[in-house]
Amino acid sequence: MENKLKLKSLFIFDVEGVLMDSVDRPRPVAGALKLLDRLEAMGKKLHILSNVSRKSRRWIVEILRQQGFKVASDNITTASSATASYLRAWKPQARCFLIGEEGLVEELSAAGLELVEEGPADAVVVAVDRKVTYQRLNHAMKLVKSGARLVCAGPNPVFRGVFEGEEGYFLGGKALCEAIAVASGTPPKYVGKPYPEVFEQVLERYGTKPDGAAMVGDKLETDVLGAKISKIFSIYLTRESLGPKLSWGILPDLVVKNPEELLTLLE
Ligand SMILES: [Mg+2]
Repeated sequence: MENKLKLKSLFIFDVEGVLMDSVDRPRPVAGALKLLDRLEAMGKKLHILSNVSRKSRRWIVEILRQQGFKVASDNITTASSATASYLRAWKPQARCFLIGEEGLVEELSAAGLELVEEGPADAVVVAVDRKVTYQRLNHAMKLVKSGARLVCAGPNPVFRGVFEGEEGYFLGGKALCEAIAVASGTPPKYVGKPYPEVFEQVLERYGTKPDGAAMVGDKLETDVLGAKISKIFSIYLTRESLGPKLSWGILPDLVVKNPEELLTLLE
């Protein structure tokens, strides 16, 4: 197992729960910085792959750099940046109606997509939005019924964060998008983990085959499942006991309690 791990040339990291607590309260995870520094010293390629949509890559990179991580915008893919790439490849000047927070707005604008509030739209892009109104959801449903493509940036049903002083679980982008999907009778296009496109993009960027890569994440249904679908070695970082979660039927290749434990296996 350890030898297999040492042979991997590309390590893909999730952000929330792996490098920092959450983008709403970005406290570093103990041992993560040391692990990434060590991997870099070993000549490994590192990439960050996150389903976060509510903050931009620019913002996440800035916070990680403040915490001592040596990362650049090129080394990170978020659900919002992947969605922007997907939309640009489909229709470079697509008119998009957004349900999402600042990260989604920033990434799509930076990609040259047109953000529309009124009138027709080519795409309705749905991500986490903790200020969404019934009116906006309804407008989105009408646009999709009129032919706009429904795209979900970051297919998490729920996520853990902090909002207006409240810490806990919040409705994820998938939950909001499903509301529109059900009402309009249109299945969404999901962009993010566990879907294979984002993993394929990362492997292609580094010229790495699936068996040369490892994914480190704290969610079975996105990080571990996504890695398994894409035939990438999956490392599940969990502080909880694995018992009840194994009933999901998603078996990681390796389970570690914290970044330090992973570091010991690599030494
Ligand atoms: Mg996570």
